[in-house]
Amino acid sequence: MSYQQLKEQVYEANMALVQAGLVVLTWGNASGVDRAAGVMAIKPSGVAYDKLRPEHIVVLSLETGEIVDGSGRPSSDTPTHLHLSRQFPSIGGIVHTHSTCGTSFAQALRDIPCLGTTHADNFYGSIPCSREMTAAEIETDYELNTGRVIVECFAQRKIDPANVPGVVVASHAPFAWGSTPAKAVENAIVLEFTAQMALHTFALNPNIKPAPQVLIDKHFLRKHGPKAYYGQANYAR
Ligand SMILES: [Zn+2]
Repeated sequence: MSYQQLKEQVYEANMALVQAGLVVLTWGNASGVDRAAGVMAIKPSGVAYDKLRPEHIVVLSLETGEIVDGSGRPSSDTPTHLHLSRQFPSIGGIVHTHSTCGTSFAQALRDIPCLGTTHADNFYGSIPCSREMTAAEIETDYELNTGRVIVECFAQRKIDPANVPGVVVASHAPFAWGSTPAKAVENAIVLEFTAQMALHTFALNPNIKPAPQVLIDKHFLRKHGPKAYYGQANYAR
C-alpha cells in the first residue's frame, strides 16, 4: 500500500467518526498501520474536522515514531496508538473517541458487560475498563502509559485483543481497533451502542447479570474464528 492510500484510509476513518456522531470538536482520532511498510498514519494534532484533508495525515515509523511523511504535528495521542499498534500485531487501525456512553462507563470505572447478543456479535465478553493510572504515570509519558495500561489490562485478564476489539480507559474514554481503520470505526460505533444499551438495561433492571455464556459463544463464534458461518466468506473484522 502506498503512503497515499494509507493516508486516505485514515482520513476516511477520521471523517466517519464525525458522521457517526462519535466525535465533537477535535475530541477523537483514528490511525492505520501498514505493517509491510513499517508505518502508522494518524490524524494531525488539533486540526478541525471540516478543515481536515488526506494530505494532512501524518505518517510515522512504527518502530521509531519518527515522521516519515507529512508536515504537521501528529495527534497528541500518537504514543498510545504507536504502543497499541506495536503490542497488538493483529490490528490494522485504532480509533479513540470520547463518545458519550462509552465514556460514561470509563468515568464510572466499569467494564461494559456483555448483556446480550448485540454486544456478543462483535465483542467476545466484557469490554474491560483499564485500571486507574498512578500520579507518576500521568505526570510523565502520559500518552505512552495510557497504551501501557491498556496492554497490561488485556494481558492480566487474558483477553485476546482480536476477540475484544476495544477498551474503556479509566476516567478517560474508549479506544477501539480492528483489522483496518474502517473496521476500527465500526467497532467504535458498536462499542458506543452496546454501552448505550447497557445503560438503558441497568436503568430497567439494576441487578441484571451478563448473558449466558452459551449464548455469547453462539453469537460470537458464528461470526468470528475458524467455525464462523455467518455472512460471506473472508469477512474481515
Ligand atoms: Zn481522549
